[in-house]
Amino acid sequence: MGDRPVALVTGGSRGIGAAVAAAAAAAGYDVVVNFADREAAAKDVVARAQAAGAAAIAVRADVADEAAVLAMFAEVDRVFGRLDLLVNNAGIAGGYGTLDTVTAAAMDRLWAVNITGAFLCAREAAARMRTDRGGRGGSIVNVSSKAAVLGGSGEWVHYAASKGALDTMTVGLSKELAPYGVRVNGVRPGLIESDFHDHAPEGRVERLRPTIPMLRSATTDEVAPAVLWLASPAAGYVTGAFIDVAGGR
Ligand code: NAP
Repeated sequence: MGDRPVALVTGGSRGIGAAVAAAAAAAGYDVVVNFADREAAAKDVVARAQAAGAAAIAVRADVADEAAVLAMFAEVDRVFGRLDLLVNNAGIAGGYGTLDTVTAAAMDRLWAVNITGAFLCAREAAARMRTDRGGRGGSIVNVSSKAAVLGGSGEWVHYAASKGALDTMTVGLSKELAPYGVRVNGVRPGLIESDFHDHAPEGRVERLRPTIPMLRSATTDEVAPAVLWLASPAAGYVTGAFIDVAGGR
């Protein structure tokens, strides 16, 4: 078991998760970079974390697949023997369109990744962190979306609703796990430049920029510090809280 704390970032191969993994490495964590498909991208993130002095590994697991999640946490146990931070960041849009476009198949997959995946990873992380089960305590940060509050109308209410569910999970688990040294918080990003917008028609970021009070989108590097702060000892009395990184939206 090493001296450095260990962070597991789901969906760490690209976008916000990749930025969080880099920031975690810079902040002194060893890093587990989870990915679904893009192994080369995950290995790049691992190489950057290693260049920053962290031990790092990439682990493929569809967070919606319970067996794959169990195998991922077994790998964390084997390689690092501890876990201090889980960032539930992996997420999908589940399609783009109004209510008429919603299908059961798309909803099933949306819920499986955005909610079931977050629950499964939280369950496995908390089981290792809880002070009443021999753990040293820890922190879970759920990457939600400002859409959870705004509703995603005309674009992806289904996606916004999944993030609303994630926020409810954050509140509930924060209270359930607080006595056992596990803090649970959320970050709600707004319009962030990443591949996520490939789920939407081209030009969405440019179209929405003027509607943001700060009149701009943000980079993934502007989201990561909020995640790291919530996980840090500076936020030691903070649980069940949300930081909006949304330019005033
Ligand atoms: P992104 O660029 O599309 O990256 C998505 C990441 O999630 C990738 O690393 C991908 O892995 C991984 N992933 C997708 N499905 C997965 C699964 N089933 N199991 C494991 N990993 C999976 O998206 P992003 O913008 O960074 O979004 C990250 C989070 O922020 C999401 O939860 C999203 O809802 C939220 N968010 C984003 C924005 C925004 O404007 N970008 C705003 C608010 C909230 P592969 O590389 O292997 O495909």
